[in-house]
Amino acid sequence: MSRFACPVCDYVYDETTGDPREGFPAGTPWSEVPDDWCCPDCGVREKIDFECVESPA
Ligand SMILES: [Zn+2]
Repeated sequence: MSRFACPVCDYVYDETTGDPREGFPAGTPWSEVPDDWCCPDCGVREKIDFECVESPA
């Protein structure tokens, strides 16, 4: 499972936990998040702008 961080705010999408408030249940892979989905916190960045972050060891 990977995590993807918004480049302009502190929001991080974690595939393990998903984001139920956005309609993505726990375990939803990044590949199933729509390409036109926007960051729910800042609303100015789309999925393609997100950066993959290493999972903590
Ligand atoms: Zn953001």
